[in-house]
Amino acid sequence: MTIVKKNATLYHLFQYSFYPVILGLTAASSVLMMMYMHPNDYIFIPGILMMVIIMISVVVEHIFPYRQDWLRNKGDVLSDFFQTFVVLPSASKIAELAIPIVLFYPITWLSGSLGIIGFSQEWGMLTHFVIALLTCEFLYYWYHRIAHELPLLWRFHSVHHGAERVYWLNSGRFHVLDAFASSFLYFTPMLFLGTSPEAVILVITFSSITGFMEHVNIDFKAGWLNYLLNTAEHHRWHHSLKIVESNTNYGKVLIVWDLVFRTFHLPKGEAVKKVGIQGNPVSRSFFGQLVHPFRKGS
Ligand SMILES: [Zn+2]
Repeated sequence: MTIVKKNATLYHLFQYSFYPVILGLTAASSVLMMMYMHPNDYIFIPGILMMVIIMISVVVEHIFPYRQDWLRNKGDVLSDFFQTFVVLPSASKIAELAIPIVLFYPITWLSGSLGIIGFSQEWGMLTHFVIALLTCEFLYYWYHRIAHELPLLWRFHSVHHGAERVYWLNSGRFHVLDAFASSFLYFTPMLFLGTSPEAVILVITFSSITGFMEHVNIDFKAGWLNYLLNTAEHHRWHHSLKIVESNTNYGKVLIVWDLVFRTFHLPKGEAVKKVGIQGNPVSRSFFGQLVHPFRKGS
């Protein structure tokens, strides 16, 4: 890192190219895989790309860290690992399976009008992707914002914010019920809109990748993309110990709803100081995090 940092031009080049390159590779690889894979196998695309980007990011965190002190294990690695690789994917999968059972089939049966608000299958994949993404992000924005502002929901969401550092593994540190609820809301619009399978895969891929990239402890700069996407530069503020700074930047993939509803926060030339939560600290163990919402004073 020292060698690279000594060379300011090289360091600058890395800072501004890393994020666009990751996103470009994600988009290109997703489309390429869809061209050559059987549609039944599309579901593997987000997972394959996530694994590749995780491996790249873990290495890059140690070469270009945003904060050196966030590289140090604070006794949180084991439970963060379990949360990220077991709890979050399981909760998302259960949510995905639950939507048709508890929402889609009953509502369409009641209304008797399947697909009233559905997309035309003649529209291109890009149109499906953009509309689905804007709709899913709108629901997620409000769920996330309410999870911060409503004490009952904050008890669950504070498990994510209780982390004392922002690094790759706490991208999946959520209370299981919070993970289930947010996934449930995120996926629901796509089913009702009749989004094409290709666009659904793109939305899942981009939400996984950008959600992960928001947490990486890598000193990259997103430039103009900071006005379109929710990046690590926003998300570190979202993890600030100060409520006035953390009750901002609620998007998952996009930052546009934060711009619309005036919760966008990215002060120029400043850096977040301490991250975490005020009040009852969140345990570093998985079990402690599981019972955290039910503890007095959480
Ligand atoms: Zn939050």
